[in-house]
Amino acid sequence: MSKSEMLFQEAARFIPGGVNSPVRAFGSVGETPRFIASANGAYMTDADGNQYLDFVGSWGPMILGHNHPAVLDAVLNACRQGLSFGAATEREVEMAELICSIVPSIEMVRMVNSGTEAVMSAVRAARGFTGRSKIVKFAGCYHGHSDSMLVKAGSGVMTAGIPDSAGVPEGCTQDTLTAVYNDLESVEELFRACGSEIAAVIVEPVAANMGVVLPEKGFLAGLREICDRSGALLIFDEVITGFRLSLSGAQGYFDIRPDLTTFGKIIGGGMPVGAYGGRKDVMKLIAPSGPVYQAGTLSGNPVAMAAGLAQLQILRDTPDFYEKLNRKGDSFFEGMKKAVQEAGKPWRINHVGSLGCIFFTDGPVSNYAQAKTSDTEAFASYFSYMLGHGIYLAPSQFEAMFLSAAMTEKELEGFLETFKIYLKESQAK
Ligand SMILES: *Cc1c(COP(=O)(O)O)cnc(C)c1O
Repeated sequence: MSKSEMLFQEAARFIPGGVNSPVRAFGSVGETPRFIASANGAYMTDADGNQYLDFVGSWGPMILGHNHPAVLDAVLNACRQGLSFGAATEREVEMAELICSIVPSIEMVRMVNSGTEAVMSAVRAARGFTGRSKIVKFAGCYHGHSDSMLVKAGSGVMTAGIPDSAGVPEGCTQDTLTAVYNDLESVEELFRACGSEIAAVIVEPVAANMGVVLPEKGFLAGLREICDRSGALLIFDEVITGFRLSLSGAQGYFDIRPDLTTFGKIIGGGMPVGAYGGRKDVMKLIAPSGPVYQAGTLSGNPVAMAAGLAQLQILRDTPDFYEKLNRKGDSFFEGMKKAVQEAGKPWRINHVGSLGCIFFTDGPVSNYAQAKTSDTEAFASYFSYMLGHGIYLAPSQFEAMFLSAAMTEKELEGFLETFKIYLKESQAK
């Protein structure tokens, strides 16, 4: 038995499902989670000493690769000055100024500890500002695990939210309305029915939690227009896309200005950090300057701020960082697409910049219903093959592949070679 298998058995006795977040379980791909011992650059090493080329990157934060020396130094130096004070620090000011200076839509920002908290708080701010209760979200978009966001598509878009999890009372989700991604008419319909009660529309500007699904031309601009017309706020959940698609995130990439934005993942450089920010007139309502309460014992933690600041400064100061990374992503995912075509498979590759995924289906994927047509057994066999050949992918069809700046031509070529052999072998079966 491998060490990972032993650890997993032990873990399952004391931790629900053996993991501290469900996405880490390998259940849907019929494997045992690999317990990671260390990571460096583009690679992770598990408890048995196996090395993997890492396409998860801690679900996004490690855009520079693991153990970037400048980030590591910043953290170690911060640690020596004290782990937490529960009091204001200079680094928080630097962080807030940095975010406001690189993301044009953000005039004020509040730091929190996770993406979940950022979304929960942004939604509260939107409700406080508008005095309205209802929130529109899209089927297949993930916004963390706060009660009101755990809603799947109802039987129709008009259906008031049905909780997606045990333990969430209907009262918590009755104000969550679900629309169809890339379908502006489904949003218009909700606004026709109860537009004066809708506080905000929240969207992943590139959906990256149902696999990767791109916004069609006009979709994000259409949401902006609907919100402007109705007095609802537009919230971009940029927990994945923030500081990834461009320095100013998806909003910079697509040139759309949301009212509020949520961040997580990259903003912490690998430490538990989230943030929400946007228009000053909305953010001024947050306590203690206003009546919308939101707080956090460890928010703006000095070590976490040091990691995030160091990473964001590198992203800002490295010439052509995003041009290079996005070009690398384009040629990599186009390489995957070509390999699939040459193998005569109908499978789809969706990608933008350094994010992408493969869907084992033969039609286009531009919403949740289409994403769900993917053959998850085919995904499981692809996943296992790649894992067995030293490539660590997200253990689910409905997640993204994350490229990092630490991946060179050699690593990406290596993936494509393995992928082609996989295609050939799956052909033979
Ligand atoms: C990961 C994620 C979240 C939740 O962030 P956590 O830090 O896991 O709480 C929210 N929104 C999106 C788009 C995410 O990808």
